[in-house]
Amino acid sequence: MSQDRRQFLKTAAFAAIGSGLALNATLAKESSSLFSINKHTHSGKMKLTFRPYDLKLKHVFTVASYSRTTTPDVQVEIEYDGVTGYGEASMPPYLGESVDSVMTFLKKVNIEQFSDPFQLEDILAYVDGVMPGNTAAKASVDIALHDLVGKLLGAPWYKIWGLDKEKAPSTTFTIGIDTAEVVKEKTLEVAGKFNILKVKLGRENDKEIINAIRSVTQLPIAVDANQGWKDKYQALDMILWLKEQGIVMVEQPMSKTQLDDIAWVTQQSPLPIFADESLQRLGDVAKLKGAFTGINIKLMKCTGMREAWKMVTLGRALGMRIMVGCMTETSCAVSAAAQFSPAVDFADLDGNLLISNDLFKGMEVVKGKITLNDLPGIGIQKL
Ligand SMILES: [Mg+2]
Repeated sequence: MSQDRRQFLKTAAFAAIGSGLALNATLAKESSSLFSINKHTHSGKMKLTFRPYDLKLKHVFTVASYSRTTTPDVQVEIEYDGVTGYGEASMPPYLGESVDSVMTFLKKVNIEQFSDPFQLEDILAYVDGVMPGNTAAKASVDIALHDLVGKLLGAPWYKIWGLDKEKAPSTTFTIGIDTAEVVKEKTLEVAGKFNILKVKLGRENDKEIINAIRSVTQLPIAVDANQGWKDKYQALDMILWLKEQGIVMVEQPMSKTQLDDIAWVTQQSPLPIFADESLQRLGDVAKLKGAFTGINIKLMKCTGMREAWKMVTLGRALGMRIMVGCMTETSCAVSAAAQFSPAVDFADLDGNLLISNDLFKGMEVVKGKITLNDLPGIGIQKL
């Protein structure tokens, strides 16, 4: 095969595999010969391994309902033909998964039955069907598989998806809930390093917290109410006030059960309203159109990169705005999410910055902006 032809086929294979959509009959016929490139050069079985890993938080993490100093996590590897793909499941307790549940799930996954790692659609449909729920466990396999496939193709996923890494946005950095005085100190510490801050509201002292931040910086602020405002009038009043304070977006103003009230707020709101707790997976996106301006996509909730990319494209098709978020995670899962960040309006990818025992070097925040490298797969190197 000539060098040009080989290059053409490789590029075409990127486009086909990156689309995330079913191929039509003609393309499917073509693609069997495209993927055969890899079948000829690679053989053997995929091997899945995993181990628990406790993430140590740099600071005590407090949200409306609890505080903690570690996050349980499971590190995953899929090895194929001497190449290793890395994945990760992070389990903040409020989402209901644990090291035990993830290990139980992964023990049931028989990845060895597949001989072609490029068959992401089939493999991940199988993984999704192993047990219901378990979205972080599923994401860990999805991320490892994407890392592996990207490495076999020799390209990072932002490139396979056809994205321009220069368009990656700045990430927000979250100022944790605390007294006004501590919030002021925390803000002073980080204000020079980031272009946009995020603050968790939905408590009694919301205005006090915003005033404390505003007393030291004029940076744009994203607000996450975490379902904290009780009714639509209180939510709209707060949003109108927040608009005057230079807040740029609001996440989950009220309980996920109050969808009609949220829709009312979104209609009146001068700020874009994003769904977080109201959203899990691809199947939820269309239901949220009209109720929210946009959606916050998180790998640990949506089963990974494959579904996340489908959510990005569906959300766009529905005219919604897109945000990417994360849990406390190592640079593994954060870099995986960063691969589609050039396609989003807001990014909240500070999870790896919050831990003191990262295992990887990956996506970096440079002058506040998400900066992707050109390493293949999800763009990480083991430290
Ligand atoms: Mg949120």
